[in-house]
Amino acid sequence: MSLKVYIAGKLYDKEDAKVSVYDHGFLYGDGVFEGMRVYGGKVFRLEEHLDRLWNSAKAIWLEVPISKEEMADAVNETVRTNGIDDGYVRLVVSRGAGTLGLDPNKTSNPQVIVIADHIVLYPDEYYEKGLEIITVSTIRNHPTALNPRIKSLNYLNNILAKIEGIQAGCVEALMLNHKGEVAECTGDNIFLVSRGQLLTPPIDAGILEGITRDVVIELAEKEDITVRQIPLTKHDVYIADECFLTGSAAEVVPVIKVDSRKIGDGKPGSTTRRLMSLFREATRS
Ligand code: PMP
Repeated sequence: MSLKVYIAGKLYDKEDAKVSVYDHGFLYGDGVFEGMRVYGGKVFRLEEHLDRLWNSAKAIWLEVPISKEEMADAVNETVRTNGIDDGYVRLVVSRGAGTLGLDPNKTSNPQVIVIADHIVLYPDEYYEKGLEIITVSTIRNHPTALNPRIKSLNYLNNILAKIEGIQAGCVEALMLNHKGEVAECTGDNIFLVSRGQLLTPPIDAGILEGITRDVVIELAEKEDITVRQIPLTKHDVYIADECFLTGSAAEVVPVIKVDSRKIGDGKPGSTTRRLMSLFREATRS
């Protein structure tokens, strides 16, 4: 059976799920999106994802044409229809079809699209042994140009960084901000463990406020681990005891090498492994 994709209130076979080539989401990356996980048939932290989607939309003067309740129903219905038990949901709100000019006032209605699919996970090896990443030369978007807090359809900044990472043989890549501070990876947030404390860049370093990041902070605080959201440099990364990344798709994944430097003893550390296990409990319970 073909997967069904939700577009503007209707479910279409995947092959017939199409939007206009005049949609400004396609022409200009003018739109917003969310990537969410389904565990045991339930969307994890749906409310938080919807809040972030609405905030992203607000920041780009885009009015989501349905209510949050209707959106939650659309997401849940699409997940149920496709029988997705453990999977991934991509939620897109694009500006809608318009003219070839930039003017969003000349577009018609924003399009709401929900894709619920199976997920291709990182191999187990990444979680057992940890990742090797590099810092790339592409800096994260300047927050006053395009704020990384907005999860917009324009992901070229991240794609350029990802290409640099891939060319260096890495599946993730670390991006700095315009001040040379650590920002985030192309599709994941970054954490360090240093002298027993959990460190992560603050939101105003120019990063996406990851839902998984928030969950990990909550889990750490429950464990009485001190969490500090402070500006970090590459040097802080190199001398950290542990490093890991967080994201809806990756969950919590250890990093054991950055720019050819071993982090800690070059193996996933005990705090990382504890948080990975707590995260699994939180999502699989
Ligand atoms: N940073 C960026 C740039 C991302 O695209 C994502 C999501 N893929 C994240 C961080 C992690 O966010 P979340 O935990 O909400 O998936």
